[in-house]
Amino acid sequence: MAWDFSTEPEFQRQLDWVEEFCRTEVEPLDLVFPGAAYSRNPKAKALADPLKQQVKDRGLWALFLDGELGGPGFGQLKLALLNEILGRYRSAPVVFGTAAPDTGNMEMLAAYGTDEQKSRWLHPLINQELFSAYSMTEPQGGSDPSLFKTRAARDGDEWVINGEKWFTSAGAHADIIFVMCVNGMFVVPRDSPGVEIAEQPALHNHIRYDNVRLPLDHLLGPEDGAKVLAQRRLGGGRIHHAMRTVAQVKLAFDIMCERVLSRESHGKVIAEHQMVQEAIADSYAEINMLRLLVLWTAWTIDNSSTKEARTQIAACKYTCAKVLREVSYRALHIMGSLGTTDLTPLQAMWAAAPTMAIADGVDEVHKVTVARNVLRGYEPHPGLWPTEYIPAKREEARKKYAGLIAADPDLAAWADAAARGRLGRR
Ligand SMILES: Cc1cc2nc3c(=O)[nH]c(=O)nc-3n(C[C@H](O)[C@H](O)[C@H](O)COP(=O)(O)OP(=O)(O)OC[C@H]3O[C@@H](n4cnc5c(N)ncnc54)[C@H](O)[C@@H]3O)c2cc1C
Repeated sequence: MAWDFSTEPEFQRQLDWVEEFCRTEVEPLDLVFPGAAYSRNPKAKALADPLKQQVKDRGLWALFLDGELGGPGFGQLKLALLNEILGRYRSAPVVFGTAAPDTGNMEMLAAYGTDEQKSRWLHPLINQELFSAYSMTEPQGGSDPSLFKTRAARDGDEWVINGEKWFTSAGAHADIIFVMCVNGMFVVPRDSPGVEIAEQPALHNHIRYDNVRLPLDHLLGPEDGAKVLAQRRLGGGRIHHAMRTVAQVKLAFDIMCERVLSRESHGKVIAEHQMVQEAIADSYAEINMLRLLVLWTAWTIDNSSTKEARTQIAACKYTCAKVLREVSYRALHIMGSLGTTDLTPLQAMWAAAPTMAIADGVDEVHKVTVARNVLRGYEPHPGLWPTEYIPAKREEARKKYAGLIAADPDLAAWADAAARGRLGRR
């Protein structure tokens, strides 16, 4: 029987270590030196690097990369279990070498880069000697790639990029930016002449690429292959978001459950009010539905491919946004006034929930993908009635008993009455 929800004991020991490590090392670092794990400041690095080394020593670094792509090859299911812990702590993904947007960019490089490109960019990215960003969305439209205009023109031994990108996360801090042009995916060093980064928005940058010249070997994958590379990148990224969301909603749930047992209102602990119990019960079920969807999708990727799991990944993406929205709101609400402050993680979690329904593709687009792919497995019914129209099905089924019914009029009458629901228990 292969239908098994258990974790192998050896990996469970790793997960136990991760849980303890995050609680005792990563969270204190986050609380006292927020952002240290991402920083290039030597003093901050001196605090974060030893933690990253411990992760490497445990063999848990860059778990997202499959064996054939240069990672430890643990697969997506184990990564999902790991991310269920990491997603709870702000800098844990970077301490474990599995932080977006680098992860998706590394996947793309690993899958499509030449050996030379991999040694120039992939290995330094894995080691966090370089940081990267991903420039796809344009100001005039993000959901529909056919609206994109950024293009690379060939000029002798160079490509020349012109265009404008919007919401390139961490673009201002990246060493290299993966720029999706209509005719290919390019790796652009951020300090290239012509890369102009606007002041606003601060975190997700608005970038103009004005006659940016690149050597020919900065094209990643085939010419005109940008859409395929983007799908490869975004597929992985979306399921990783969902994995980390499981961690976030579990955190919200823990906060909510502790609180309802700790306070009283109208003569009883809050946990005894039925509407509060409904919030707990609904959250419990939704979190576990999301978790199982994510684990099943991760398992499917491990046993086929990201492409094969596309429908499931799309379903994970909008489901995680929905569950995050619902559960973080309930938890915030149940915390009362405290929930509306930034003194617990809930306010930020709730504020970030709409983001999850937009980043890496808006909900509507993913729902269209799911509906379209699911409907490929169906056909219209041939006549007036649906396949499950009971009178027609019964007529068809009666053919199986035609001999019996013809030979026994009492049985035929009983069958007719029973079908009309007139017999009770007779
Ligand atoms: C936190 C965050 C980080 C991001 N990081 C990056 C990044 O690093 N690099 C990058 O390139 N981009 C990034 N993005 C941008 C993101 O990919 C886009 O915001 C997204 O693709 C939507 O594009 P848009 O914002 O232009 O919205 P639009 O495409 O204008 O969509 C706006 C709304 O229109 C409706 N809509 C659009 N299309 C459809 C449809 N087909 N059917 C029904 N309704 C529809 C939906 O309600 C949708 O929310 C990030 C976004 C966020 C929020």
